[in-house]
Amino acid sequence: MSSLSASPAIPVPVVLSAARAAAWLTGTAVLALLVYYFIGVDQGAYSVLGNDTHIHEFVHDARHFLGFPCH
Ligand SMILES: [Zn+2]
Repeated sequence: MSSLSASPAIPVPVVLSAARAAAWLTGTAVLALLVYYFIGVDQGAYSVLGNDTHIHEFVHDARHFLGFPCH
């Protein structure tokens, strides 16, 4: 007969220096702004990529799912 004994999970805090924390925060903010732009703002006609609508069409369902105005 076996017995299952689960050891309690002990949370380990993440320790970062201020410089590394600032770098992670900056990278995350830039990535989030890029995702926000391409899903919520990029409309094709005003795209940073010119008149190309490939990215707009690629994220089109996500745009509607998240409630951004589209067409
Ligand atoms: Zn649409």
